[in-house]
Amino acid sequence: MVKTMVRAAVLFALAAGLINACSSPSALDTVAATRAQARTTSDSAEMLSEQGTILIATNDFSTQERMRALARQQNLAVLTTYTPYQGSTARIYGSTALGCIAGAVPVSESPDLKFQVWGQGRNYAHPIMAQYLNDLKVRIKAQGLPPLVVGDIGLKYGGPYGPKSNHASHNTDIDVDLPFFFAETKDVSAHPDVYIVRGQKVLPTFTPEIASLIISATSDPRVDRVFVAPMIKMRMCQLYESKPNNGFLHKLRPWFGHQAHMHVRLKCPSDSPQCLSQAPIPAGTGCGYEVKSWFMPPPPQSKTVRPAPKPKKVLPQQCKILWSHR
Ligand SMILES: [Zn+2]
Repeated sequence: MVKTMVRAAVLFALAAGLINACSSPSALDTVAATRAQARTTSDSAEMLSEQGTILIATNDFSTQERMRALARQQNLAVLTTYTPYQGSTARIYGSTALGCIAGAVPVSESPDLKFQVWGQGRNYAHPIMAQYLNDLKVRIKAQGLPPLVVGDIGLKYGGPYGPKSNHASHNTDIDVDLPFFFAETKDVSAHPDVYIVRGQKVLPTFTPEIASLIISATSDPRVDRVFVAPMIKMRMCQLYESKPNNGFLHKLRPWFGHQAHMHVRLKCPSDSPQCLSQAPIPAGTGCGYEVKSWFMPPPPQSKTVRPAPKPKKVLPQQCKILWSHR
C-alpha cells in the first residue's frame, strides 16, 4: 500500500496550522515565502506534505521562476507549476464518452507546441485543457526537453469523431492524446506513430525524456487520469515506485492500446455542473496486483452468472441543441 498523499493548500493550511504536524519547518518556510512573493491573489503555493514537494499555481512565468528558485534553495522539489483555473463561459454536458461542449477554444501551434494531425478540426479544447497544454509545453521546455507534440483533442461542439475513428471518448474536449515523441523538426503533422512498447517488450524509444514527459503530463492537479499501455505502466512502476515523488503513479492507468501515445483526461471543470466524472481511481500506485493482472490469463468464464446489463447511456438534451447548429 502506498502512503496516501495528503495535499495541503498552504493558503488555508498556514492559517489553520493544518500541516505543521507532518512537514518540516524549512519546507513550510519556503512555501510561506513563495506565497509571500506571489504577485496576485490567484498565485499560490501548495505542498504535498508527505513528499516534500511543492506545487506552484500562477499564470505568471516570472513569478513561477522566482518560486522555483526559492524552492531550490530549500531543497524542495517542484512537482509542477500550473495556471489556476479562473472560470470561463464554456460548459460541458455529459461524459467524455457521450457528451458535448459549448464554448470550446481552438488550440494553435506555436514554436513549443506542434500537432500530429489525424483529422481536421480536432484541435478544440475546453479552456482548462488549453491552459493545461500551455503549461505543459512551458514546463517541459524548462526541463530542457524538445517541443511538445499534441494529437487529437476534441471537436468544436464536442461529441464523437464518427464511425471511422477509434476514439471511445474525447467528447467533451477535456481529453488529449500526447504522442511519445517530441517536435524535433518543424513539421510533425504527418509524423508516424512512435511505439515505446510492443506487448510486453520495452523498446529503445522508451527514453528517460519520454519518461519525464509522462511524469510531467500526469503530475498536474487538473489531471483526472492518464491512460497508457499496461507495459508502460509496469515499466514506470519499476522505475519510480520506490522513489519519493511517486505520487503521479496513482493517476497513470493501464489500458488497451496507448503504446504510441498517452491519453490525458482532465477533471470536470468546477463551473460545468453537468459534466459527468468517471468513478474515482482506487487508492495507491496501482503497481501491485492491479498492473500485474494485465499480464495474467483471464479467469475462466462462469456459465451460470450473467454479467449485469450496463445502464443505457443517454445523450444530454443540450447536445442535441448544440449539434443542430453544426
Ligand atoms: Zn485518446
